[in-house]
Amino acid sequence: MPLLFLSVYLLITVIRFALDWINIRHRQQGRQPLPAAFAGQIDEQRLDRSDAYALAGDRVGLVEDILAVALTIAFLFGGILPWYDQWIAGYTDNFIVSGLLFFGLLALIQLLIGLPFSLYKNFVLEERFGFNRMSFKLWCADLLKSLLIGSVLFTLLGGGALALVQIAPQSWWLWVWGFWVVVTLFLLYLSPYLIEPLFFKFTPLAKADLEIEVRDLLEKAGAHAGKVLQVDASRRSGHSNAYFTGIGKVKRVVLFDTLMEQLDNKELLAVLAHELGHWRCGHLRQQLIKSQIMALLVCWLAFTLLSSQLLPGWLGLEQLSFAGQVFILGWIGSLIGFFWIPVSSWWSRRHERQADQFAINMVGSGQELASGLVKLARENLSNLFPHPLYAAVYYSHPPLVERVLWLQKGKVDAVSLKKFSADQ
Ligand SMILES: [Zn+2]
Repeated sequence: MPLLFLSVYLLITVIRFALDWINIRHRQQGRQPLPAAFAGQIDEQRLDRSDAYALAGDRVGLVEDILAVALTIAFLFGGILPWYDQWIAGYTDNFIVSGLLFFGLLALIQLLIGLPFSLYKNFVLEERFGFNRMSFKLWCADLLKSLLIGSVLFTLLGGGALALVQIAPQSWWLWVWGFWVVVTLFLLYLSPYLIEPLFFKFTPLAKADLEIEVRDLLEKAGAHAGKVLQVDASRRSGHSNAYFTGIGKVKRVVLFDTLMEQLDNKELLAVLAHELGHWRCGHLRQQLIKSQIMALLVCWLAFTLLSSQLLPGWLGLEQLSFAGQVFILGWIGSLIGFFWIPVSSWWSRRHERQADQFAINMVGSGQELASGLVKLARENLSNLFPHPLYAAVYYSHPPLVERVLWLQKGKVDAVSLKKFSADQ
């Protein structure tokens, strides 16, 4: 059995590396001509720079990946897991404390191993391509804050779940799921007020005319904007984005200041219309419901497998603590999850297309969104030539060239527009 699991893991690793490889080769093998919308925005020099940026990212990603694979194999199949499990058991026999220690220490080690990579990416790689705007002091402050918030959430969620396992040994899967649903919904609601302000400064839009247009667009889409804000993302990075959050009809719109620097008002509104499309087409709700159903399934499956006591044997071990078995379960889950990636990417691309159609319906054409996306690709040095197979597996958005062509041909869809008006 252990050999079977190891083989599956190695097979997935080979597939992942092969996909990376064909993607890099595809980029280097020559460029297809770009559609007219890219003219004047992205020239050969830009493309060279994008290539260099992608390659630099690929290199450090490869080192990180090889290290992760080696450590995973050593931990699971090289005898470290049972030793670690025993070592934790030597300190305490308290069920909750030992469980928290088991995962807390592992998370800390993972963080420490990741630190040099994070430093390199921010202060060497992103710096070289002009994206990094973060000082070392800000990086340290961010790290400390995330560590603090992470520890609190981990203790609360992990400790709570373990306590429920102890209190209701026969039905904990349902209790743990219910507990997580409540906490995640609570966090979703509170995060914009409690967590995000710890990292970012939110201020009213600097462009007053834009705010009026944003509010008009929101009314037209059937949402009420509680607040329209800009966020000082430029303190950390030159990359740009926009999002909007909120439960119910009152929405909170947040534009990155970097996005406002890079796009004109019409393009900004088109990007926002796309984001509104996700909400109006029910994607956010669907996503939430899908993940909660998935969590229920995972909890039940975990309960069944943990009760069966089969897990240690699967890795050729005699016995393991509850936490150790949960760890194996998580790892097996990640193996299954790999085969789920293309499905969820496909699903996501479908949603993107629908949100794009919604934006066309709102704005009247796809031109503004197309030109906005081209500018963002230019500023973010996006890879315009992914291998089709790589894009099919990993891309949550349609590849840009294809998307821009589609947007330019796009027309207001009378049927979906009518259905949308009827919904209001
Ligand atoms: Zn989207």
